[in-house]
Amino acid sequence: MNTIRLSRSSVGAEESAALARVIDAGYLGMGDEVRLFEEEIASLIGGNRHVICVSTGTSALHLAVAALDIGPGHEVLIPSITYVASFQAVSATGARPVACDVRDSDVFLDLKSAEQRLTRHTRAIMPVHYGSSARGLEEVYAFARSNGLRVIEDAAHAFGSTRNGINVGAEGDIICFSFDGIKNITSGEGGAVVTSDADVAARIRDGRLLGVEKDTEARYTARRSWTFDVHHQGFRYHMSNLMAAVGREQLKKLAKFSQRRRFLADRYRKELAQLDGIALLSMDWAEIVPHIFVVKVQGGRRDALGAHLRSLGIEWGLHYQPNHQLSFFRSEGCPVSDQLGGELLSIPLHAELTDAEQDRVIAAIRAFSGAV
Ligand SMILES: *Cc1c(COP(=O)(O)O)cnc(C)c1O
Repeated sequence: MNTIRLSRSSVGAEESAALARVIDAGYLGMGDEVRLFEEEIASLIGGNRHVICVSTGTSALHLAVAALDIGPGHEVLIPSITYVASFQAVSATGARPVACDVRDSDVFLDLKSAEQRLTRHTRAIMPVHYGSSARGLEEVYAFARSNGLRVIEDAAHAFGSTRNGINVGAEGDIICFSFDGIKNITSGEGGAVVTSDADVAARIRDGRLLGVEKDTEARYTARRSWTFDVHHQGFRYHMSNLMAAVGREQLKKLAKFSQRRRFLADRYRKELAQLDGIALLSMDWAEIVPHIFVVKVQGGRRDALGAHLRSLGIEWGLHYQPNHQLSFFRSEGCPVSDQLGGELLSIPLHAELTDAEQDRVIAAIRAFSGAV
């Protein structure tokens, strides 16, 4: 029996043709394709936003933190359960990522835990759209407003999702997306920052090209800056035309991908509800494009279910090991995260997953829990 992948890219002839088009045109670096990808993302999201495409979701987060002049001596509040990228993006600036606990119901940032960790060094809060959902983001913004904090949303899971009927990214302070190979859409690797703050947007545009001022504008008109000034630390974090060409094809498929991901998640929810020892997360299912499908395995049986799935050729994942348990980021006092770190298990979800494959996953979990 074939192995059922936890996640994978969904790319084909259209992406190949787009790559060939860029290669034939002869300019692989950052140019027209990137500009067009940014314009297309902006018009899809709405809200008249600045969109800056970069090399990865991690570099999007790093540039966002750096653009706020957050660095040594500063702290950023962040849920412990997220990809280690969110933590590394903060520590890369010299600031300290302060691990906060999460809610058991949906693994979203526990605002009470964040409030307890507020100090005079806190500059920003980084809520994560875990599993594409961000219930209670309003309260995070209210907390940020009353304490003078900036908000950087890690929306790496959430591209294509809505909140209260509004596209994720269309409102809010600074929103970061990832287009790595397995996210809702991919540009090979890639990411984007979305904001209405013109100063932050300009800092990020320059920051992705070594801090060279207005180099983006030059490259988008097929020129290049030979003489320039630099005021800030910069990075080589731009997106290439090759990547953007893939991303533009993926944008055309977003509706199809979203429909498939939603269909599969709905079916999992129906078939895995009320199983002994398996709990589902409580998300805004009607609004999200689910990037991962996570269950909580109770009674200390997560690894046993994992072994059972593996023996049947079904991949599974852990999103995520709590970051406050890692040596580099170690801290105490996130009991819910500690508990969830032993319970969370992600099951296969991607646009290429077939009905027959999903049947196998469902049957395996139902059998494990004693339902037949
Ligand atoms: C994927 C991801 C990132 C980083 O994105 P990359 O493009 O892989 O660098 C950050 N945060 C979360 C929650 C992610 O899932």
